Amino acid sequence: MQNIERDTLEVDVLFVGAGPASLAGAYKLRQLINAHNAAAEKSGQKGLGEVVIAVIEKGREIGSHMISGAVMDIRALAELLPDYLERGAPLESIVTEEDVSYLTEKRKLKFPIIPPPLDNHGNYVVSLNKLIRWLGPIVEESDVMLLPEFPAAETLFDGDRVIGVRTGDKGIGRDGEIKDTYTPGADIFAKVTVLGEGSRGSLTKKLVQKLKLDRGRNPQVYAVGVKEIWELPKGSVKPGFVMHTLGYPLPDDTFGGGFVYGMQNDLLDLGLVVGLDYRDPFTDPHRLFQQFKQHPAIAKMLEGGKMLYYGAKSIPEGGYYSQPKYYGDGFLIIGDSASFLHSQKLKGIHMAMKSGMLAAEAIFEALLADRYDDEQLSRFRQLVEASYIEKELYEVRNFHQAFENGRLLGLMESGLQWLFGGVGIAGDHLHAKPGHTRIRTLDYVVGWEPKDPGEVPELPAVKYDNKLTFDKVTDVYRSGTEHDEDQPSHLKVLDVNICIEKCTKEYGNPCQYFCPAAVYEIEAEGGGRRPKLNFSNCVHCKTCDIMDPYQIIDWVTPEGGGGPNYINL
Ligand code: SF4
Repeated sequence: MQNIERDTLEVDVLFVGAGPASLAGAYKLRQLINAHNAAAEKSGQKGLGEVVIAVIEKGREIGSHMISGAVMDIRALAELLPDYLERGAPLESIVTEEDVSYLTEKRKLKFPIIPPPLDNHGNYVVSLNKLIRWLGPIVEESDVMLLPEFPAAETLFDGDRVIGVRTGDKGIGRDGEIKDTYTPGADIFAKVTVLGEGSRGSLTKKLVQKLKLDRGRNPQVYAVGVKEIWELPKGSVKPGFVMHTLGYPLPDDTFGGGFVYGMQNDLLDLGLVVGLDYRDPFTDPHRLFQQFKQHPAIAKMLEGGKMLYYGAKSIPEGGYYSQPKYYGDGFLIIGDSASFLHSQKLKGIHMAMKSGMLAAEAIFEALLADRYDDEQLSRFRQLVEASYIEKELYEVRNFHQAFENGRLLGLMESGLQWLFGGVGIAGDHLHAKPGHTRIRTLDYVVGWEPKDPGEVPELPAVKYDNKLTFDKVTDVYRSGTEHDEDQPSHLKVLDVNICIEKCTKEYGNPCQYFCPAAVYEIEAEGGGRRPKLNFSNCVHCKTCDIMDPYQIIDWVTPEGGGGPNYINL
């Protein structure tokens, strides 16, 4: 497969991943160019001429991989599209009622006041999925090329300079054989390539490693959010209702919490965020979410309702000190891929959009100068530094690290940080460890000794009744996930021997638990055991790539169009 002839496409600016960061960036860049060209024409000067902007997306449609049940700060949206209301932006509701509660197994203890960092007054409940499905056509109409089903498989380099991406091949069989339908991926060359792949972007990960963009930074730490959308009896959901919970079912040493948001049309959006820096190797975010729904206070809200949709995604929680260097020769990194996310408020959409818009300004200046090198594109860093997103990130720069020693100490430390400008008693520039290094070996499971390497302890029983609680396979069905099964697995386990010879004994194969889509199974084979990958279930959350204790799972893009088909999530 060395001498394959590939189509090539030359564009001026290429955005990878059609999320809020890239779409906002592409639209803003087109606006800047149009305004410049119009002014130049008026004054009889030479403008920038035709500038080709493209956005490629691995999903089958623009928006199909978008998931975030969100309470959104709409500043960036209002700046990008001041007439967002006239254009029918799908905002569910301004926040009308707030509840922050601590859950024990049976009780719900409501905080008497909303802690200021969690105050959502003036924000809006939105579905990111609906927002992107609405924004995509607006961006396309502005003369931006949107290319769904174009997964970015590889970054193209000239030395250390990024010159574009290669998209994934189509028509390769499960065992690597070339099928009649084979179509090689295209090479897309660009003056600037902007990586807006979302959390744990597969190209971003390798670019950061290759160019050591994380030198001197904290490692990135993540959480995974698992959620469902429920339809409830008419009139029982208050749009704009926002509830956040701490405590049950998460143990004290596990970062995270629950959320419940009221949407239009009797839809309730609820989920659980679980820090991917937990200790217990049997932590199963999907199972914990099912337990969350069984809490009396949550189960009561869901009475008479029907689960419609399911999804999961990882969230970069590391914040300011975990941001990689997000510019270099020929490239910029925006949105979740560069950790533009307010981890305390769990808000990333406005930061993603604003980072895309600032990237657009930097690229516009680069186009004017006709220079795309590191120094020129460092303008992006300057623009971020002068913006509100930098201020917001800096204020909570030590937030996630405060939870290193559990929830109680974390709440106290982060409270002090809030009072004293981001610094508590533990000091400033708190360090973080990669989440997978904190997972404990099997002896952490108190009182359990394996009789044979394949034995696992009894886990808390969750009765999947298909009314309130659902097993992973049923939930995956509600995510609309599909992949052509006759293609190589996009989950590359780099050394299968480690799975059985080391991981089974040391950690009990946590992939079986942390994957929220039942992709990983360890099955018996010829008196031994081997991993089985149901890759067609994968909802693209990237948890396995993040949390595998040996870091031997490499998530790469599957054939274009594969993956979830999220609706309302
Ligand atoms: Fe998420 Fe990995 Fe499971 Fe896919 S295989 S759903 S990326 S954990």
